[in-house]
Amino acid sequence: MEVRPEGLYCVPADAFVDPHRPVARAIVTHGHADHARSGHGTVFATPETLSIMRTRYAEAAVAGGVALAYHQKVEIADGVTLWLAPAGHILGSAQAVLDYGGSRIVISGDYKRHSDPTCTPFEVVPTDVFVTEATFALPVFTHPPIAHEIDKLLRSVRTLPDRCHLIGVYALGKCQRLMLALREAGYEETLYVHGALVKLTQLYEELGHDFGRWEQVADLAQGERDALRGKIVLCPPSALADRWSRRLPEPLPVMASGWMQIRARVRQRRAELALIVSDHADWNDLIRTAVETGASDVWITHGRVEALEHALKQRGIRAKALNLIGRDEEDAQ
Ligand SMILES: [Zn+2]
Repeated sequence: MEVRPEGLYCVPADAFVDPHRPVARAIVTHGHADHARSGHGTVFATPETLSIMRTRYAEAAVAGGVALAYHQKVEIADGVTLWLAPAGHILGSAQAVLDYGGSRIVISGDYKRHSDPTCTPFEVVPTDVFVTEATFALPVFTHPPIAHEIDKLLRSVRTLPDRCHLIGVYALGKCQRLMLALREAGYEETLYVHGALVKLTQLYEELGHDFGRWEQVADLAQGERDALRGKIVLCPPSALADRWSRRLPEPLPVMASGWMQIRARVRQRRAELALIVSDHADWNDLIRTAVETGASDVWITHGRVEALEHALKQRGIRAKALNLIGRDEEDAQ
């Protein structure tokens, strides 16, 4: 593997993994924009990731898509086999597994170990080299179960029935996970969404997820908006404080993100209620996962690289930082 200006390059496979510039052959781990750019020649990805890319970009942008179901093997180059394993991050997210000359390298992409009904759970793949992210790699990051955070939200909704709870969520993954978690908690009211969340939520429905009754806020007549008191509205984080939200009755800004454990980030979002909902592995899960893969070498792509490197070395694992650029930390979910 080499770090090139386009991104992480696997020499024997002649392919980049999640390159941030257009390349001839790309392996794309999942649909988030900082991993799935448009304009590549051939794209190896799960069918769900390709659908997400087609929804976000023009159809032509993913013309060279090669759909690989989890565990489906393809000889990507002479003697190099590629297959994808579930990463538990968002719908269709995958780890790229490359087998070559009797040794294996696993590139995890973004991943998490917590439960998420919108995607297949993370699978530990035994490997020689494990390439991992480190977005939340500090001991301070311990992500609570999502049921705990949903409970916090629903208590606030019951306590403040005049307020419209407006939740800032990323359009891909977080939004749909929140919706399903609310249903799992027994919340049966109609959910209301900002227009920017509609397309991807519809795609999740096409791919088999059932979110119950939901409606786009823009479809309500002006006079019906007052009916949103005591209701839950989902919107992109940027809409929490903009003019759009002022049309809602007494909006109470809520932000759902792994960063909500950091007070400064809560203030920055002007959130009155912070839900710690992360789609990344927390500190303990990052270390546990690296150990469970049995890898002798762990390469760290981006995030809190030094802390994880140090913690893994203490456990006898050869760890090194790759210092990949081009990952959008603010948008890391
Ligand atoms: Zn991601």
